Amino acid sequence: MPEEKGLLIVYTGPGKGKTTCALGTAFRAVGQGLKVLMVQFIKGSWHYGELDAAKLLGDDKFEIRPMGRGFVKIGGGETDPQDIKLAQECWLAGHDAIYSGKYDLVVLDEINYTISYKMIDADEVVEALKDRPERVHVICTGRNAHPKLVELADLVTEMREVKHPYTKGILAQRGIDY
Ligand code: ATP
Ligand code: MG
Repeated sequence: MPEEKGLLIVYTGPGKGKTTCALGTAFRAVGQGLKVLMVQFIKGSWHYGELDAAKLLGDDKFEIRPMGRGFVKIGGGETDPQDIKLAQECWLAGHDAIYSGKYDLVVLDEINYTISYKMIDADEVVEALKDRPERVHVICTGRNAHPKLVELADLVTEMREVKHPYTKGILAQRGIDY
């Protein structure tokens, strides 16, 4: 029998595919009877297809909880305190899910982004992930993964942009980007 060991997985880098890679892993996990929760730190502006696809699988198998709001200010100026509050609530939800014993895989979608903007504390996240129940798999997505998270992780994949349609002026496509 393969050993059961919860993996800490990080999908980062500037190329497209971090969240979709986490969704693909979640899809595979559901097929193996694993219970999956994805908490989303930053909610995009569109209605994402995965929200409805997860419902088709069943909320008891794959639950997605969007917990951010639209767009967070990027660079310059101060981060809106409301966005910091939402990010911290999302982290709390992810943390509780990891420790609850109810889930086999917990995806923290875009957590890297909120750590890199100091909306949540890197050390707190890293310590909590280090001490988590051993069998729980965790996936952290988002650009600019924190070096301490990368160090702790068992698997880190960096998406590298080779080509993206956006640079040709092709906008986000339904079913591919949202
Ligand atoms: P996806 O959700 O498609 O897997 P992602 O999680 O890797 O993308 P994010 O940083 O979360 O990337 O950005 C989400 C949105 O930005 C998506 O609509 C995606 O198509 C777009 N995007 C991702 N990478 C790039 C890029 N290199 N250039 C332009 N747009 C991008
Ligand atoms: Mg993403």
